[in-house]
Amino acid sequence: MMTPVLDPVDVVVAGGGIGGLSTAYALARSGRSVSVLERSPEFTEVGAGLQMAPNATRILREWGLLDEVCEAGVAPQRLLFKDVLDGGELTRLDLDDEFVRRYGAPYIVIHRSDLLTILARACERAGVKLVADCDVQDVETDRDGVTVRSALGDHRALLAVGADGLRSRLRAKLSDDEPICSGYVAYRGAFPVADLGPKIGEDALRQVVFYIGPGCHMVRYPLRRGEIFNTVAVFKSPAYERGEEDWGGPCELDAVFSGACDEVREGLGSLWRDRRWAMFDRLPIPNWVDGRLVLTGDAAHPMLQYLAQGACQAIEDAACLAAELHDAPPPDWAEAVKRYEAERTERTARVQTTARLWGDIWHVDGVARTLRNELFRTRDLHDYKYIDWLYA
Ligand SMILES: Cc1cc2nc3c(=O)[nH]c(=O)nc-3n(C[C@H](O)[C@H](O)[C@H](O)COP(=O)(O)OP(=O)(O)OC[C@H]3O[C@@H](n4cnc5c(N)ncnc54)[C@H](O)[C@@H]3O)c2cc1C
Repeated sequence: MMTPVLDPVDVVVAGGGIGGLSTAYALARSGRSVSVLERSPEFTEVGAGLQMAPNATRILREWGLLDEVCEAGVAPQRLLFKDVLDGGELTRLDLDDEFVRRYGAPYIVIHRSDLLTILARACERAGVKLVADCDVQDVETDRDGVTVRSALGDHRALLAVGADGLRSRLRAKLSDDEPICSGYVAYRGAFPVADLGPKIGEDALRQVVFYIGPGCHMVRYPLRRGEIFNTVAVFKSPAYERGEEDWGGPCELDAVFSGACDEVREGLGSLWRDRRWAMFDRLPIPNWVDGRLVLTGDAAHPMLQYLAQGACQAIEDAACLAAELHDAPPPDWAEAVKRYEAERTERTARVQTTARLWGDIWHVDGVARTLRNELFRTRDLHDYKYIDWLYA
């Protein structure tokens, strides 16, 4: 057995992404001592923008972080849906005063690294120990707590939180399921607006635009007070469908989007072409708890990104776990984490399955596309019934 490298704490969090840092901060501000073990050398993330709906920004406000988040991000005026092929407007969701009143908080878009920096600083202020370069290898639970085995040694705590993402090592202790590949791949890009030139008009800097179409879509929005412009292009890879090993390359990207409208084809020039992200999710599981080990974020409920909710749900997890542990003395924690599991599994399962369905609706072709477009175009712009369950 290796010697413990850190003083025992109440909670060890494995993984320092948005989910891990949110959990650490939520627990620390309710008086728990917390360490976060992150295998990367830094607490940062490659990637571009992140949309944060009011179900998450409400929590950030409760945590006293919303002002910083708003200052680092952008509050867009609307979510605008267009057809990827003809560029015609389909529907929109105004993110105006009525929206903010209804859901109690704004819709914000922010660079991932800005959000992670805000969370990491908040953690440090709250006394969380952030340990980088620390690969978590295993967790052993016993009656009194957990031993977290890592590359740096053993860590003793009352509770371990698996926040180690889609390919979670700790989830494997609870479930033998594997990530499911959707055959879709994402290209991202975030560039200074000044470098993209006059093609990025004033309107583009005030909205999130979704271009949806047969087997593909593109999303574009501003970041960092409008200084950066974010583009994500996603498509179903024909090479994946054919069973080829090397799939989703830049040639496929160009070919799939070759019939798209001018705005979208122009957007292809705002992507990083040297990296891409294959899209995976998993099916919901009912069990996130093994004694003193509990899962959160993508480790618990990885989802396709179509509802822009993965990180938002991880923030909800964090608030829920902290609330359940708040008044519970450590001997009652096993029950408290079971209450967390009961409260979170049903909701996140619905978000996971709805995200798949929403993606299917975006990607239809032929008659289904004509019908979808007609339904979107005739939608009452003040109809919130499809989002109340998610944002309220
Ligand atoms: C293209 C795309 C767009 C998206 N857009 C949105 C959006 O707009 N809004 C939204 O809410 N969500 C969005 N998501 C989803 C969101 O990115 C994820 O749900 C969220 O980042 C999950 O956070 P997490 O902390 O649970 O996992 P991760 O971000 O995967 O973090 C896991 C962390 O654990 C670390 N780790 C892994 N294994 C170990 C180990 N053994 N030991 C120590 N550390 C370990 C990793 O290095 C990583 O830092 C999007 C996803 C994609 C792919």
